[in-house]
Order: sequence, then structure tokens, then C-alpha cells
Amino acid sequence: MARYTGSVCRLCRRENLKLFLKGDRCYSDKCAFDRRGYPPGQHGERRRGKISNYGVQLREKQKVKRMYGLSENQFRLFFQRAERQKGITGTNLLVLLERRLDNAVYRLGFVNSRTQGRHFVRHSHFLVNGKKVNIPSYLIKPGDVIHIREKSREIKAISDSLDAVVRRGIPPWLDLEKENLKGSVKALPAREDLTMPIQEQLIVELYSK
Ligand code: SF4
Repeated sequence: MARYTGSVCRLCRRENLKLFLKGDRCYSDKCAFDRRGYPPGQHGERRRGKISNYGVQLREKQKVKRMYGLSENQFRLFFQRAERQKGITGTNLLVLLERRLDNAVYRLGFVNSRTQGRHFVRHSHFLVNGKKVNIPSYLIKPGDVIHIREKSREIKAISDSLDAVVRRGIPPWLDLEKENLKGSVKALPAREDLTMPIQEQLIVELYSK
């Protein structure tokens, strides 16, 4: 399935939640969700009726998939991997998504959205443990160290993002040395570290049908 290329703010309005897909704009008074928090479309304002169980499960899956900017196939592969792991599948899924390199550089504040993280990873702006990694889905693990490459240190988007990261904070499982442009993975994220309003059990139920 093709990647969605329309307005990302529509996605927040569709999912009835701020997904923080547009970097700094999401924290400003220009946020479309804050201004028009009803579903997009001609009759959006009147649309939020009762939805079925299936609809609730589907919306939860769409919400998480869109939050991390994945296609249906990519998301399903992550789900299948989570299912094969020991433990609770829903939690495994969220932890795997958090461990993606494009997410980690976003969480560390090197970029201002996961979309930008994906672009910057693809353009080889980061090193993991001293080696160039240009795969956005690369899974980081405890002990890994992420550096901004020497040649990329002057990129304004990176310094702007680092200045803005204080607004959202660094999650407890990561550590940022801002002056060295270096981040490290202290541990795998625990479920309680993932504070987005997600009911992952609904996704498990959806895919178990
Ligand atoms: Fe969503 Fe950000 Fe757009 Fe607001 S500005 S609607 S949070 S993507």
C-alpha cells in the first residue's frame, strides 16, 4: 500500500488525537487539531457517532501506525515480530516501534518529527556505535550510542530541533549529551515509559480476528 501523502494534520483530526507529526508547529497555536478538533471532511463537525467494536480496534491500529509513519505492511511485520517474542504482544509491539532508529533520533531531539528522522537516517546523518546506519527501521538496543556525523553537525534543522526538545523532554530510557551531539540507549523502554494514550490490546484483538 502506498504511503499517505496528504495533509498530516488531517490524520490527527481523523484520529481525534495530536499525533505530533509536524515538529514545532504541533506546539504552536497553528496546530490544526487545536483549532479544529473535529474530523476532516465536509460533514466532519457532525460526524463522531457511535462506532462498532471493530471500528474502535481499527482506529487504534490506524492511530499507532500513523504516529510512527508506517505503511500497513510495515506495521503488520512489526506486529508479527512482536507476536513471536516472549511476553505481552501489545507491549512488545510498542517497544519494537520505539526502538526504530527514526523514532530514537526523534526522541533524542536530533530531529523534530519521525518523518524528518526517517529522511535524515536515510541520508546517513547518524552513526550507531561509530558505524553509518541508513535504515530507519534499524532496531537500537541497550548500550548503543547514536552520534550525529561530523559532516552533518552544522545542519540547522538539527540544532533547531535540539533547542526545541526541552518542550517534549527526553524519555528515561535514553540519554542525551547535547554538547557532544550524542545519545545513548540506557535500557529498553518499559511500558510505563510510553506515555502516549494507546490501548495496544485493541490492536492485538484486531489482528487476532
Ligand atoms: Fe497534528 Fe501537529 Fe498538525 Fe497539530 S500541527 S494537527 S499535532 S500534525
